[in-house]
Amino acid sequence: MNTTENQSTDTIFPKGDPAPADYFTGTVWVKPLVPNSDTFNTVIGNVVFEPGARNNWHTHPGGQILIATHGIGYYQEKGKAIQVLRKGDVVTIAPEVKHWHGASPDSEFTHIAISTNTQKGIVDWLERVTDEEYNALAEI
Ligand code: MN
Repeated sequence: MNTTENQSTDTIFPKGDPAPADYFTGTVWVKPLVPNSDTFNTVIGNVVFEPGARNNWHTHPGGQILIATHGIGYYQEKGKAIQVLRKGDVVTIAPEVKHWHGASPDSEFTHIAISTNTQKGIVDWLERVTDEEYNALAEI
């Protein structure tokens, strides 16, 4: 299996560009797939997280759907346990539910992120996910 600089092994899409460090911990790549528009009110992107990488806590005013396509990832809603995500898992996130998503400590993770009802807004970024929060699953 070949891996070039811009292509992740076993994934469908190119890695894209680095995500903004203000909102992510670790290295994350985003490949836009469908831009926002008044026709669809939807944004779709492919997101690749290096092992241990994750986004900040955040909410989506119009909700979000995640489709896991590669590796092993984490998803957590505020006040609930971390869920482990594997290829083929689908997560539906209701509007305004505080959450984060990312890779597990030892595996890269890729998901397709679909932000819906974008006329209400796409994302509101919050504080970073601390190492203590991130490692809570491993310590159980
Ligand atoms: Mn999200």
